[in-house]
Amino acid sequence: MKVIVLGSGIIGTASAWFLHKAGHEVTVLERQPGPAQETSFANGCQISVSHAEPWANPSAPMKILKWLGQEDAPLLFRLRPEWLQWKWGLNFLRECTPARTADNIRQIVAICEYSRQTLQAVRAETGISYDHLTRGILHFYTDAKEFEDSLPAAKLMRDLGCPRESIGADEVVRIEPALAKIRDKIVGGDFTETDESGDVYKFTTGLARKAAEGGVDFRFNTTITRLLTEGTGAAAKVTGVEIINPDGRHQVLRADAFVMAMGSFSVPLLKPLGIDLMIYPGKGYSATYKVLDPDAAPSVSLTDDGYKLVVSRLGDRLRVAGTCELNGYTRELNTTRCEAITRRTRELFPDACDYENPVYWTGLRPLTPSNVPYIGKTRFSNLFLNAGHGTLGWTMGCGSGRAIAEIVSGRQPEVDFAFTGMPRHVRNPHPVTTPAQV
Ligand SMILES: Cc1cc2nc3c(=O)[nH]c(=O)nc-3n(C[C@H](O)[C@H](O)[C@H](O)COP(=O)(O)OP(=O)(O)OC[C@H]3O[C@@H](n4cnc5c(N)ncnc54)[C@H](O)[C@@H]3O)c2cc1C
Repeated sequence: MKVIVLGSGIIGTASAWFLHKAGHEVTVLERQPGPAQETSFANGCQISVSHAEPWANPSAPMKILKWLGQEDAPLLFRLRPEWLQWKWGLNFLRECTPARTADNIRQIVAICEYSRQTLQAVRAETGISYDHLTRGILHFYTDAKEFEDSLPAAKLMRDLGCPRESIGADEVVRIEPALAKIRDKIVGGDFTETDESGDVYKFTTGLARKAAEGGVDFRFNTTITRLLTEGTGAAAKVTGVEIINPDGRHQVLRADAFVMAMGSFSVPLLKPLGIDLMIYPGKGYSATYKVLDPDAAPSVSLTDDGYKLVVSRLGDRLRVAGTCELNGYTRELNTTRCEAITRRTRELFPDACDYENPVYWTGLRPLTPSNVPYIGKTRFSNLFLNAGHGTLGWTMGCGSGRAIAEIVSGRQPEVDFAFTGMPRHVRNPHPVTTPAQV
């Protein structure tokens, strides 16, 4: 079958890789000059199955209210006269009930675990090197109440098969000695030794290169402007995609199937087809520093609970990422937020890095209210979705690519997940929800 993948972030590239392996003839369309130049460029780099708790959870509404208007808040709603933002906000509140949070966590853990195993298999098969470390993720707390509140979440993760162990402050520093300077501020932590980290950009570009060598046709500098459709009801299908070529010419490309993997930008492209995806861009920041003293910089990937920042060592660089601003599609850098990241990193690891020359970046997380992505079918028989991976697109990337290739090939992926427009395949006995067709 001839398949066109729309977008070449981690999700589109992994989709193309697995579609090609499944025997399809694959073309990837991407507006940037190469893969992974938007949200998959400079993220937190954690493969964090252990951090599957979505932002939508019972404690979120109060925290968000408290943070409203606070310029350096970890999660900031900038209220706009925009229907999608308000609708998204209401849906977010709906996902904060204990029952929905628990079901979302189960699904996220399932797809993340499937994805980590898939990533490990791809790594072994391709030999792509991407500054990856398999030293686990250490989450540390500086607020006693936050630490206490984290204990049930850690237990839930253990119940779901994820070895997230709650530990004391001395154990935190034993696992990551670079935290010794702030030992007196740490109240506890949890450690998941099966988690990993690695450079998403290096991985995605490496995978795209291997896929291209295998015959996948990547067309960069190509802007997708419209999907063309025909038929109604069960006969509705996509007939082509309208693009602007690198030389400025308009063209329509035809294929048997289309996979939407344009992150936050999937929404405006699908709207004219009557498909309303509940995805809102969540602007996040990262700072990358050159490591000056390798022993003073951490080499275990960290989550700093107090500041909601993640830290990953990427060879001779240190990446620190986090914060979220719901403020439309702007990627403008806010100096206050950038400086807050550097201030905190310098406080944690004073002599480790060159803090005078940080490289700041922003990216738009394609956030669904539940943080459960859309992977699956639409009411157009040959249009498939792989979008809305929110805070965990790198963690879920390889698994989402593998799953969509299964679905496009007419098979049900072997993972307990509510694939869009498909009956849920359940391996564990717990409440089942079937997602609506979109
Ligand atoms: C600050 C920050 C930290 C993060 N940390 C982590 C982490 O530690 N671990 C983790 O698992 N996840 C993390 N994430 C989330 C992760 O980065 C995203 O979920 C993931 O990158 C989304 O991938 P994607 O392929 O869906 O989107 P993208 O990477 O944005 O890919 C979509 C592609 O579609 C292309 N496109 C869009 N519109 C068009 C068009 N009209 N024509 C042609 N092409 C188009 C874009 O150019 C882009 O390349 C983080 C995100 C941020 C912002």
